[in-house]
Amino acid sequence: MADIVTASFHKNRRTTLERIEKYISDVYFTDANLRGKLYPSSKPIEKIWHWALPGGEGKWEKFPFSSIVGQNFTPTKVGESFGPTWSTHWFKLEVMIPENWMGQEVWLRWKSQSEAMVWSESGSPLQGLSTGVEKQMRSGYRISECWKPTERRLPLVYYIEMSCNNMFGAGKNGMINPPDENKTFTLEMAEICTLDKQVRKLLLDLDVLHGMAKKLEEDPRGYEALYCANQMINYIVNGNKSLASRIADNFFAKRNGERAHTLAVMGHCHIDSAWLWPYSETKRKCARSWSSTLQLMKDYPEMKFVCSQAQQFEWVKMYYPELYARIKIRVQEGRFIPVGGTWVEMDGLIPSGESFMRQFLYGQRFFQKEFGLKCKEFWLPDTFGYSAQFPQICKLFGINRFLTQKLSWNLVNRFPHHNFLWEGLDGSTVLAHFPPGDSYEMDVTVDEAVRTVKNLEDKGRVTTSAFLYGFGDGGGGPTSDMLERARRLSDVDGCPRMEHMSPSEFFQRLEKDQRNLCRWVGELYLELHNGTYTSQAKTKKQNRECEFALREAEMLLAVTTIRGLLRNSEGYRYQAELGEAWKKVLLNQFHDVIPGSSIGIVYRDSDVLYQEALKFAKGIKNFCLDVLCKGNSSEGENEMSVINTLPWPVKKVINVSKEILEEPSQKRIRLEEETMQPASTGGHYVAVKAQGIGYSKLNVTHAAPVEVGFKDNKFILRNSFIEAVITRYGTVENLRLAGGDARDVFAVDHQDGVKYGNKINLYDDIPLYWDAWDTMDYHLETEQHLNHEGVQLVQEMEIVESGPLLVKLRWHMKISEHSSLRQDIELTAVNPYLTFNTYVDWHEKHKFLKVSFDTGLHAKKATFDSQFGHVERPTHSNTTWDSAKFEVCGHKWADISEHNFGVAVLNDSKYGWTCKGSKLSLSLLRSPKAPDDKCDMGAHTFKYALMPHDGSFQKAQVQKKAYEFNTDLIVTPSQSLNVKADTWFNLEGEGAMIEAVKLSEDNGNVVVRIYEMNGGRSTVRLRITAHPPPASAQLCNGLEEPIAPLVLVKSHPSSGTEAYVCDLHLTPFKIVNVLLIYARQ
Ligand SMILES: [Zn+2]
Repeated sequence: MADIVTASFHKNRRTTLERIEKYISDVYFTDANLRGKLYPSSKPIEKIWHWALPGGEGKWEKFPFSSIVGQNFTPTKVGESFGPTWSTHWFKLEVMIPENWMGQEVWLRWKSQSEAMVWSESGSPLQGLSTGVEKQMRSGYRISECWKPTERRLPLVYYIEMSCNNMFGAGKNGMINPPDENKTFTLEMAEICTLDKQVRKLLLDLDVLHGMAKKLEEDPRGYEALYCANQMINYIVNGNKSLASRIADNFFAKRNGERAHTLAVMGHCHIDSAWLWPYSETKRKCARSWSSTLQLMKDYPEMKFVCSQAQQFEWVKMYYPELYARIKIRVQEGRFIPVGGTWVEMDGLIPSGESFMRQFLYGQRFFQKEFGLKCKEFWLPDTFGYSAQFPQICKLFGINRFLTQKLSWNLVNRFPHHNFLWEGLDGSTVLAHFPPGDSYEMDVTVDEAVRTVKNLEDKGRVTTSAFLYGFGDGGGGPTSDMLERARRLSDVDGCPRMEHMSPSEFFQRLEKDQRNLCRWVGELYLELHNGTYTSQAKTKKQNRECEFALREAEMLLAVTTIRGLLRNSEGYRYQAELGEAWKKVLLNQFHDVIPGSSIGIVYRDSDVLYQEALKFAKGIKNFCLDVLCKGNSSEGENEMSVINTLPWPVKKVINVSKEILEEPSQKRIRLEEETMQPASTGGHYVAVKAQGIGYSKLNVTHAAPVEVGFKDNKFILRNSFIEAVITRYGTVENLRLAGGDARDVFAVDHQDGVKYGNKINLYDDIPLYWDAWDTMDYHLETEQHLNHEGVQLVQEMEIVESGPLLVKLRWHMKISEHSSLRQDIELTAVNPYLTFNTYVDWHEKHKFLKVSFDTGLHAKKATFDSQFGHVERPTHSNTTWDSAKFEVCGHKWADISEHNFGVAVLNDSKYGWTCKGSKLSLSLLRSPKAPDDKCDMGAHTFKYALMPHDGSFQKAQVQKKAYEFNTDLIVTPSQSLNVKADTWFNLEGEGAMIEAVKLSEDNGNVVVRIYEMNGGRSTVRLRITAHPPPASAQLCNGLEEPIAPLVLVKSHPSSGTEAYVCDLHLTPFKIVNVLLIYARQ
């Protein structure tokens, strides 16, 4: 018969289509259909032995393969169950292959309802297996493509490592629910079988034809596919598989015209570094997925695999060195392609600017060191919003391209581009691409390919779109079925073209179309998952603490080293160790950990990592203080010094113990009644002033007193900056600047009702599905104001400290039957803000706690602190884009201002804000129950502050006050700091911040990172007085590589301290990295 396809007897599209579907189904009619003929012969594996690895989650890390083989394995069989959740079980298999299977393709098939790994007898991880969820099933390992009895000696021995979890953890009655800790996993299948290659080919032909027939319903080509598949079945049924195969080949040989869109297909495997499983399981997920990928690469030379997250490479290097060596070869071939440039795929909103710098610094350095390459694309497909500073930071690391797809999850507005120029806060631009299929885990189906082109928002502007295939989130990666379909769809009339490309090849093509693209300015706000700015409050607080502690430690280490008090090599070594501490913090910034969307045990692990990082940073700090401050003799005067790590003078009220003050050596401290205040908890409050980055002798400073009064049942707090009226139940009724300024933050002149601040509000917080992730707009309709007149307090407001340096009021109320809040409201003599030191005992279900400042101000926008700058967002809901921003991310402060007057709220650990109308709210605590049912239950301490100001927030230096609010002065005994005061680094001129002073990664020079923080243009002078002087200075990039020389000038300031200065020209929100080069010691 000729190879001509004829149409089906009857014009019944539905029956023909479903006939094809059933003929390749793995569920229906497998006794008679083609799928049932895929494995013609099979045989159970008779000899299986089992050994349970002692202990649960993560214990496998202590048992390398070499220690497994000698264990006491006992016989087991199919039908047995193993557990509990997170435990590890090893199986040893002896496989006898029948003689009559010679020349056949032979497979090992294993189904254990869990994830697993096949190991060779000699300890090589061969391939991952996953049999938990149908969609992600990978149940076979190919023993031989064409079995020859002489190939290997029988019996063949394999080991299988079973992890008692599936691809998406072990959620109880639902994927994102907390894990069922006592699950068991049953060995359902352990067999060897032969695979019929021709049947496999026909199944895939039919699969793709069926896809085309179904998807291209309006297109004659879809009918051609339908009839071709129908006729193939007739031929197969009649015993003529070859003819069936040939008509399929003929069909697929009909090429596209020139107009066809191209899909740049890239193998991918998104592995969440922790999520519904702990970090320890991710290490194994990487090995399972990547070993499977290497297996596939043998069969599919066209395959390219894109892989992000340096941390995951490092894990594989550490735990699977042999696999890592094989990966390295594929990297060199350009087929296993590291991408992204960051340490992990981090959250895009909560980490500080410096954290982002470190994500790229340690990520790019890893890829450089291990593979000799720098990533050219920033890869962050699955993160819940993208900071407006990303374009600039990317560029500092040589990255001009960005890929994500998460904005397709927007609940309200459809993002208008898949390809665009993304302009960041400082004007830097990167080329951005969202794969139009809106996914990073495609199966390579006709439906997806056609949908990708249909979805494309830039039709006529670009010719190519990225298409990422391979199972993801829990790992898995590409399968041979996907690659087979990609072969058939490489260029077939009716479907877009598929071409295997690296990200670089793809972006090069896109760059040619760049002139056609539109521009998007500012942050990429995800209209979903806004609860993640608040869930798992402790993790966010630890992140903030670590960011500041590491800053302090690095700065002191740099100063100690360049002053010659540490050998260069020692300083360098400690800096490398601080880098390791940073990496712990960076790992926890992974896009399901810091957002609060992981299971409970992940937070047990993150807690340990934070504590280790913090302990190490504090250790380095104390060590450096010791070295810096210790004199040559033990007999010298032991005086107290104050070290300030912020680049401007800071005044604070601190508590010093009586003993220190009465120490005879404290000659310079002249205590007078008005310069100290006994503290109710012991010690004395004194006001101190400290020089910008450097030290001063602890000298008490005079300050105009702070006072507290009581009138009309209200407390009046007043210092030389502000005046506040506070009610007995904690709300702030009036807030004015001192000096008779009549303007009141909470006054209203055009509305009824009273406005006030520090309203503690409780909301119902039940999302649609993603519990820890989402808070919905309707939660705002359920506001319940807790601290109002007449409320029954646990403890009435009382005056705890009454000045002249510190006034403190304390009150305590119930939030509900189960939860309570205690607060100290403080005003010092030296700071222009009211501080609310808050303790909450929190035991709620689906409730959201916020503090609101319902001002009388009239402003169309509010401003929020972000990475190396700030972003503005509307306070109105004119458009759907405005109204979708009902809960937004901000860092240390937010501000609402009219012309010349406004108020800022500062905080030490919070990230969620709402600003609608004149009301600014700070989100404090949530209580989601999935995936961690204990999320945020228990005790919390945090603080926030309320700062009214004259002029703009820039003029009022709100940013500086927010840094001060998050940084303590270091009070330390000193001998060698024997001059009155010294400044190590300083900035002259306004509007800039020294974010980091650190030893350079490679050679013990010093990197000073400065950014413009007002959104303006200025020239600042960096002053370096740390001795010895630097030999030269260079502008450098994020990788600390010099870019251009800077002019370094010797200067003699009036104080007599010799200094070197260099002038830096800053534009709005610019990050400038200065490399100070020191002569080798
Ligand atoms: Zn993810």
